[in-house]
Amino acid sequence: MIKDLKFFLDCKVAPIIQLEILKRKYPEHVFHKQDIYNAIYNLCQNNKNERPDSLLFLDILFEKMTQDPRWKVFVRHTGSENRLSGIFWMSPSQLELYRRFSDIVLNDNTCKTNKYNMYLSVFMIKDNYGRFRNVANALIEDELSSTYTWILQCLVKATDNIIPKSFWTDSEPGLINAVAQVFPNTPHFYCMFHIWQNIIKHLKSKLGENFSNFSKAFYACRNALCIEIFEQRWKFMIKSFPNCKRYMTRTLYNNRISWAKAYMPFQFNGGIQSTQSVESFNNIIKRSLNSTSTLCEVEEAINKRYEEEIRYCQLTDLKAKYTTVGLPHLSSQFFSDVDTVIVEFLTPLILSLQRFQISQSFTYEGQLISCSFDNSPSNTPDDNFVEDIVDEPQVMLKSILNDMDISNVVETWKIRRVGGISQKENLVVLFNDGSHICTCLETITKGIICRHFWRVMLYSNTAKFHISIIPIRWYKDDILTKLSSSILENSPVLTAVESSDTAMLHTVDFTLQSLKKHFQGSYNNKIIQQIIPKRNKFGVAFSTAKTAINIALETGCDNELVKLLRDFISTKQRSRNAVDLENNMEVENIEHDENQNNILPLQQQLIDITADPYVTKIRGAPCKKRMKSSIEVMGRKKVMHETLNHVNVQETDDSGGTSKSQRKCLLCKKPGHYQKKCPSIRE
Ligand SMILES: [Zn+2]
Ligand SMILES: [Zn+2]
Repeated sequence: MIKDLKFFLDCKVAPIIQLEILKRKYPEHVFHKQDIYNAIYNLCQNNKNERPDSLLFLDILFEKMTQDPRWKVFVRHTGSENRLSGIFWMSPSQLELYRRFSDIVLNDNTCKTNKYNMYLSVFMIKDNYGRFRNVANALIEDELSSTYTWILQCLVKATDNIIPKSFWTDSEPGLINAVAQVFPNTPHFYCMFHIWQNIIKHLKSKLGENFSNFSKAFYACRNALCIEIFEQRWKFMIKSFPNCKRYMTRTLYNNRISWAKAYMPFQFNGGIQSTQSVESFNNIIKRSLNSTSTLCEVEEAINKRYEEEIRYCQLTDLKAKYTTVGLPHLSSQFFSDVDTVIVEFLTPLILSLQRFQISQSFTYEGQLISCSFDNSPSNTPDDNFVEDIVDEPQVMLKSILNDMDISNVVETWKIRRVGGISQKENLVVLFNDGSHICTCLETITKGIICRHFWRVMLYSNTAKFHISIIPIRWYKDDILTKLSSSILENSPVLTAVESSDTAMLHTVDFTLQSLKKHFQGSYNNKIIQQIIPKRNKFGVAFSTAKTAINIALETGCDNELVKLLRDFISTKQRSRNAVDLENNMEVENIEHDENQNNILPLQQQLIDITADPYVTKIRGAPCKKRMKSSIEVMGRKKVMHETLNHVNVQETDDSGGTSKSQRKCLLCKKPGHYQKKCPSIRE
């Protein structure tokens, strides 16, 4: 049987699958999961006389650093044995990408990519081909808030303080807190996809038949176009569905600026709504890795994926060179000058998106109106996210013009589909400096000039196009090198209809970029500043609790943790009314201090003193899934038996620990060490 295991190990079969295969092969034999895992663990140990994998991995990175010093590699050591608890790496070409596209940065974490069960944390940007590109990676031991802080600080250090202009992640509490600490001025957005999945998970069974009504109420909140309406609807929702109050308030309301439409309508997002695409990157990587993979294999898989991304861009360029699909006949008649300019500047994908908007404009009609008109939409969509609906206004004109001198407005146009196909209408405002804004906000949020504006161009020669309206991040790579030679200034200002006053055209200063800045800077700023501090405490507490639970399950100490928490609950319930604010503050500070001076640039002598990361995976039952399957297969009693067995193992291991002081450990209650260095974690 050991022979079988050896064979499996060589083939890199995951332990749980090894067990299942053995069961099939020897049906007459009763298998104890823990015995099998221990056997596998011992086999792994025997292979260890070679250089440990983690050191090989550091060797590889160090060699790259030596060949090109622009490589950024940081390691994190924990414990007296200098256990490797974090690695961050970023290549020179990734740094270049990040420099150029740090206006949209995404982060996602994935587990089960390696045999140490370290989390792989991936940073991505969206490039000018509309693709998500990997710009930095880290392997980390846990998901504590302090660990996330470490990763983000590494990113800051590696890039010489280039802070993301917007940051998109899932709503992991530990990460939320870390972002607020390291990037205090960066708008942080959550993936709507995850938020919605979590709502379903937590509330669907609780609400039962009421869930579809609740879902409508939630979408109506999310899509509300101004803060007052959002707050009204939120209160109404909480009142109508009181048993969702706790979940909704704690996880969502405190973080509302990160997902509610009303708070940050002007944020540039390049067309992303969620971090789903980062997940697809992770899935591709995960396909070639599993829980027996070495760190070197992780690095290899990421590299391979990165090369593929580069090849994709080269291929698109090549394809665009040999296929010349221009504008449809009608559009090219009116917009041929515009087309010449955008062909020169934009990458193939952005060009096609822009051309699509131009050709769509012919299916719209409009009329000149007075600018005191407003577009309060009669009903907010309650079955979808508002930005996914074509022609749905994303902002009320009133709130755009709030801080603005109304005398700057030259014309206001109301635009809608021809033939009354849709009741939805958008307002396009033309300003006297040549800039414009449309209530669909696509020019600002996606950097693509919307169909409504192109339609207005066909009516009015006050509406003018200049390439600088489209953000530089969408330009071709080779345009960037020409930017200094005033290629932008020399690009023509264009109108679609003849102008009687041609001289005026050339005096227009385009300041859409500054208009955009104005909105991003001041809109709702005061309210947002008040909300941010409230949300961070939950993150530290939650990520600590979650990590404790993971450790308890891995080490079989869950009974101990439950007892600890019960004690805590009963003491605190007695003194519930006395809120100890100072204590809370302390927690945050401890978390913060832990990180400092732990960002170590990789050096040869560091590799030599580094110890292997813990192998937590093989011995325990770290994830719920695995627990479940063993319950199904063996029945509840057996699992209990195993847990007991495991606890015993822990205790014998523990007694071998060297005693240093009379301090007692919080986890195992034994003297000689404290919680962080508890041998029960180690095993
Ligand atoms: Zn529009
Ligand atoms: Zn201990």
